[in-house]
Amino acid sequence: MKKKLLAAAVAVCAVVLAVVIGADFLFSKETNEVLLSMNTTVSLDITGYKPEQTAKEIKEEIMRLDTELLSRTSASSELYALNNGKAQVSDELATLLAELKQIEIDSDGAFCVALGALSDLWGINTDNPKVPTQAEIDAVLKNTKDWSIDGNTVYIPKGVKLDMGAVGKGYACDSMMGIIYGLNHIKTVAAVGGSVLVYSSEPKETFRLGIRDPLGQATDYCAILETTGSCVSTSGNYERFFEDEKGNRYHHIFDPSTGYPADSDINSVTVITQYGYISDALSTACFVLGVEKSLPLLEKYNAEAIFITNNNEIISTLSDGDSATLTVTNNNYKLGELR
Ligand code: AMP
Ligand code: MG
Repeated sequence: MKKKLLAAAVAVCAVVLAVVIGADFLFSKETNEVLLSMNTTVSLDITGYKPEQTAKEIKEEIMRLDTELLSRTSASSELYALNNGKAQVSDELATLLAELKQIEIDSDGAFCVALGALSDLWGINTDNPKVPTQAEIDAVLKNTKDWSIDGNTVYIPKGVKLDMGAVGKGYACDSMMGIIYGLNHIKTVAAVGGSVLVYSSEPKETFRLGIRDPLGQATDYCAILETTGSCVSTSGNYERFFEDEKGNRYHHIFDPSTGYPADSDINSVTVITQYGYISDALSTACFVLGVEKSLPLLEKYNAEAIFITNNNEIISTLSDGDSATLTVTNNNYKLGELR
């Protein structure tokens, strides 16, 4: 009899506790899922109440972004239609394109969403990459600055192609945030290629992210970033590249002022902000600009960055009062100073 009373008391306590601290917390589970979309690997690690349901919604949203909005190759996407003569876009794409035009202006043209034809010319993501002639480069660069947006109407000069490769993955992080924000007792680490969203409904919770060693293998890291909820995007010259017969290496992030792979002082840059499309666009822009010229841009967008220079220095804009911290974990690298 006593045992029955005790079991009943425990059950009542569990129910009371569930009501007090949230039933979803008591029944929280974890799910890990991987899918291929947006030309990259997407990994989702979600802890919460019915995480599979949240993961399902996120996967559907990522597929929508890829096939219906941002893909340059899928004939069903808005961007494809835009690149093939259509001028009117949805509110969603118009809002994003207007923001990207502003980042183009603020980065002094280092970030430019109109480099699709230049990327095609180099063919870096194809089986037949090549170094184009100067005349070919001049021809595709000619009108890239002249694309414009006015309300929902986009003007794209002849020969120019928009390409969301530098920003779509970060934008996907924002869309994921739209799904999970406001859910109780949820924790998410979601990576879309080089853009990562970390979020917890407990705002003080911190996450540890490895910063990839640009000279190592895909799983090697050289520093650890500890941060509360944010979007973290990395651009690096190790991602996609080819070598010519002389051993010269050509990577996928172009300097729009030359049409050649950006030749700044860094091998990678990681940008941390609240918005994924900003962290992603800025990481590409900062890669082109190099350490010093990036600083005003980062300040303007309230973003922090970690640069890994090509002489193995790790230079961070994070300072002592910031909620994020950085620890170098590889002896081949040393912390450098901002000049
Ligand atoms: P990310 O890895 O985010 O830096 O993006 C690199 C991708 O963005 C490339 O594969 C190109 O598709 C595109 N891209 C290259 N250079 C630029 C640039 N300067 N501005 C905008 N997009 C670029
Ligand atoms: Mg980017």
